[in-house]
Amino acid sequence: MPKHNDLEQKAFQIIMSSGNEGLPQSELWRKLGASSREGSRIALKLESKGLIRRERELRNGRWTYRLYPKRLPASIDSIADCPCMMCPDTSRCGSTGTITPQGCEKLTDWLIRLAEGGYKILGDS
Ligand code: SF4
Repeated sequence: MPKHNDLEQKAFQIIMSSGNEGLPQSELWRKLGASSREGSRIALKLESKGLIRRERELRNGRWTYRLYPKRLPASIDSIADCPCMMCPDTSRCGSTGTITPQGCEKLTDWLIRLAEGGYKILGDS
């Protein structure tokens, strides 16, 4: 029988791999081979650690929860058009130099476009 920590870790990996879609908690139980009681305990523990969020949803006429990762790893695609990638000032840009990300219009414009487009940089919750 797997240890609780192993199940928690496996559950977290499954939830992470569900991405922004999340997954119904019953699907998690099935993938873990856990009972609903054990699965609920794990989901509550992951939520209390701030790793996932649970949202109620009506599924097949019954209230249940959908589980989402609170943060997702950034993908290369999400930063492919970041101006820093092709910037000639990259080597001189830093938090204490004369060129800083905080004062950079190109970076600010890019971030605003991202926010307006509704993109999630790191799986904001
Ligand atoms: S923050 Fe601006 S200046 Fe700095 S590397 Fe990125 S684009 Fe270039």
